[in-house]
Amino acid sequence: MRHLYLNGAWQPSASGEGIDVVNPATEETVDRVPAGAAADVEAAVAAARAALPAWSGTAPADRGKVLAAAADLIRQRSDQMARIIATDMGAPYGVAMKVQTLMPAGVLASYAELAAAYDFEGERVGNSRIFREPVGVVAAITPWNYPLHQVLCKVGPALAAGCTVVLKPSEVAPLAAFALAGIFDEVGLPAGVFNMVSGYGPTIGEALVSHPDVDMVSFTGSTRAGRRVAALAAEGVKRVALELGGKSASVILPDADLATAVKVTVANAFLNSGQTCSAWSRMIVHRDRYDEAVELAARAAAKYTVGDPFDEGTRLGPLVSAAQRDRVVRYINRGQEEGARLITGGVDRPLERGFYVEPTVFAGVEPGMVIEQEEIFGPVLAAIPYTRGEDEAVAIANGTPYGLAGAVWAGTEEQGVAVARRLRTGQVSVNGGQFNPRAPFGGYKQSGLGRELGVFGLEEYLEVKSVQL
Ligand code: NAD
Repeated sequence: MRHLYLNGAWQPSASGEGIDVVNPATEETVDRVPAGAAADVEAAVAAARAALPAWSGTAPADRGKVLAAAADLIRQRSDQMARIIATDMGAPYGVAMKVQTLMPAGVLASYAELAAAYDFEGERVGNSRIFREPVGVVAAITPWNYPLHQVLCKVGPALAAGCTVVLKPSEVAPLAAFALAGIFDEVGLPAGVFNMVSGYGPTIGEALVSHPDVDMVSFTGSTRAGRRVAALAAEGVKRVALELGGKSASVILPDADLATAVKVTVANAFLNSGQTCSAWSRMIVHRDRYDEAVELAARAAAKYTVGDPFDEGTRLGPLVSAAQRDRVVRYINRGQEEGARLITGGVDRPLERGFYVEPTVFAGVEPGMVIEQEEIFGPVLAAIPYTRGEDEAVAIANGTPYGLAGAVWAGTEEQGVAVARRLRTGQVSVNGGQFNPRAPFGGYKQSGLGRELGVFGLEEYLEVKSVQL
């Protein structure tokens, strides 16, 4: 059994109980982490509170140096980190390396730079000086789908801002967080600045959120759990940042480059086996080009070879758990019951062992169907036709409770941006514009509150003080 990282040391959990970590490709148990107890939360929050004065008083550039050293170590050990992520969450090794390891190392490095570059105390408004000060002790609660990235999107800016942190990583794929705690230990982050308690959400997650000495809760996960976290945090009027679910749309206008639009949409929908909050899981196409688009999507999906994350030819790894696989299978059945047409994929098990689902494309999906409204979190793309003009496409795109991401494919960039502006969503790619890890990321509507990444992400962890002179 692993230990928790509390006050600068690895310590056994007070609970004595553990959670098995399962490799979703082999279904074998590969590790065991503590199912933390309330006493562990107490110890972690006390350590974070005690470390706050010294860390918030450390020069921002010096805080940045420690973060830069940690980012360097992640890069040096990228093979080891990518193997951990491929093993406990099932991302193909190439994805685990590029998207799940090197990108988050870049995010941490960006906060090392920002700590030094950001103006924490230089702003003036008339006769007032404006100071940006750390919020305090931050509880960070993260999901399993990008198990290092989601952690660093919180811990990077929190530490850069001068906050101290208690992290509760997902119980489903916690091993990258354990590796990260080891790295922070190695680079000499002072004791108590970063603490980690593993365990279940309804027990220690809630104990952490409700703890009176926690000043801010930064949560990434499902909308269901986010709602609960926000309600608990409201009792203490704590600052809350929520990164929640999505059901994002890729809107393909009639004069777009259809082949590119469909290929990139499928790639986005199936990245990480569809277990991406910002996945473009709905493809909205004008009726005139719809059949062609569905055909292109089916051909693209056929190239997503399902297999072991460590096989070179694999483009689609397993889903993270049996529960997640079963959930996705239920949605595929539901789609068929609702009358959507299964073009490719389906509920058959592609491999005997492992929690795999075939890459799946549905056509004939209509607005309002369950598979059009709910986040499936698997490799399932819903193709939705529209017959009238742009207004109808925009209405369908905006017609879910979510608003996290999306795409617009248009004949010109200008037209694409005009439609992007009409989408009630936090980030939009126009004609394939690439993900930018320094641009603000977050949701409208029930996809969340607040923004992560870059300067916007840093400012989530800062209070604003005005001093009148
Ligand atoms: P989840 O909500 O089940 O769990 C997320 C985290 O919250 C875990 O650490 C879990 O233990 C904890 N938790 C659960 N219930 C809790 C409670 N009552 N109190 C406190 N903590 C609690 O989500 P998941 O299945 O791990 O992740 C998938 C979800 O995360 C999807 O909905 C996905 O869209 C979302 N997500 C969003 C973003 C984003 O940036 N918007 C990024 C990644 C994932």
